[in-house]
Amino acid sequence: MTFSSLGLLDPLLRTLDRLNYSSPTAVQTEAIPAILKGRDLMTAAQTGTGKTAGFALPVLHKLLQEGPRVASNQTRALILVPTRELAEQVLQSFITYGDQLPLRSYAVYGGVSINPQMMALRKGVDVLVATPGRLLDLYRQNAVTFGQLQILVLDEADRMLDLGFADELQQVFCALPSKRQTLLFSATFSAAIRTLAANLLRDPLIIDISPDTMTAATVTQSVIPVDKKRKVELFVHLLANRRWGQVLVFAKTRNAVDQLVQTLQSIGLSADAIHGDRPQPARLRALARFKTGEVQVLVATDVAARGLDIDDLPQVVNIDLPIVAEDYVHRIGRTGRAGASGEAVSLVSADEVDQLAAIEALTNQILPRHDEPGFLPVHRLPATVSGGQIIKKPKKPKKPKVTSNKSPGKGKIHLGNWFESD
Ligand code: AMP
Repeated sequence: MTFSSLGLLDPLLRTLDRLNYSSPTAVQTEAIPAILKGRDLMTAAQTGTGKTAGFALPVLHKLLQEGPRVASNQTRALILVPTRELAEQVLQSFITYGDQLPLRSYAVYGGVSINPQMMALRKGVDVLVATPGRLLDLYRQNAVTFGQLQILVLDEADRMLDLGFADELQQVFCALPSKRQTLLFSATFSAAIRTLAANLLRDPLIIDISPDTMTAATVTQSVIPVDKKRKVELFVHLLANRRWGQVLVFAKTRNAVDQLVQTLQSIGLSADAIHGDRPQPARLRALARFKTGEVQVLVATDVAARGLDIDDLPQVVNIDLPIVAEDYVHRIGRTGRAGASGEAVSLVSADEVDQLAAIEALTNQILPRHDEPGFLPVHRLPATVSGGQIIKKPKKPKKPKVTSNKSPGKGKIHLGNWFESD
């Protein structure tokens, strides 16, 4: 299968050639011709499958071929995404694939000043990538209107619902023209996603790329059981012992991220943090320093890490397991991208066994466990079986209570042993 057989325009094919994309991925093979034909789509595909190019290429193709030039404060294709990081990344994809095309792309999101965004929208943009909250702010201030809108894309729709954007999404949909093409991408088809799709899509083509196990086969996954308090020590040990190069580490909370970064820096390692408490410029700087190799260890929370696209990242470490099992799939989707091989190691303590079982149930696999010599846990990580169940150790029968003669009951006078027997 080649990109040209999918019917894409020459300038796009030349760009793909330059990028060395030799053949379309599975989601691209299914999605591109359907989008070019004007179908609505409901697609299950997670990060790493090439889904962004799966919609960006045909959207650019259609904007070149159909519709009038974009007018001021208008947009022709709206891409809704859950986070700022994903907005920047999707924008980058449009800029890369749309190189040399007479189309303008732009991204808007919260956490940064709204004024430059209002200025940029004045000229009108062909492709607008947006998080729902900031888009509504701009819409209410008349900085953007949707009279020329041809295509709506919802990227990582499940994540938008998880993050509580359902109301904002409904308000955005009300502002859009009903005659349009709508493309929905989601890692999973949950009940909430199906309801959303039923209200939003017209006779959609359903594409399900998620294999039996939702995680990419190119990623080697494993679990190292360890006591909670020794996780950081184990991570530092593995970093040196396994000669890991750059590592993306996930922790559960912002505090845990900061603490790990501080510990790593205190022993002379270059580490930086990405989490929601850090201002956007600091996050982008951390990501840029990681991408250039200046930073060896980037530590992130789940929300902040959505959409990070880092080429050639061989190593992901979960120092904590995520609370929401789907986040595991997104975390390890940062490695093993587009056929490259990667490794995801999870350091798991006994109290996380429920999360581990949920991940294994969701991804339909039992993660192999490897003990690390010197780090065997005192608190044993219970076994899990297929289907996400936990095998509990049978409880030992309680020993019958033997009344001690050491401490007499309150109010009793201890007179040797004899008072017990009376
Ligand atoms: P995505 O799943 O959209 O996050 O894309 C994952 C990565 O795969 C990105 O770094 C893309 O640049 C890359 N990619 C997408 N499509 C192809 C392709 N057909 N051939 C090679 N790399 C690709």
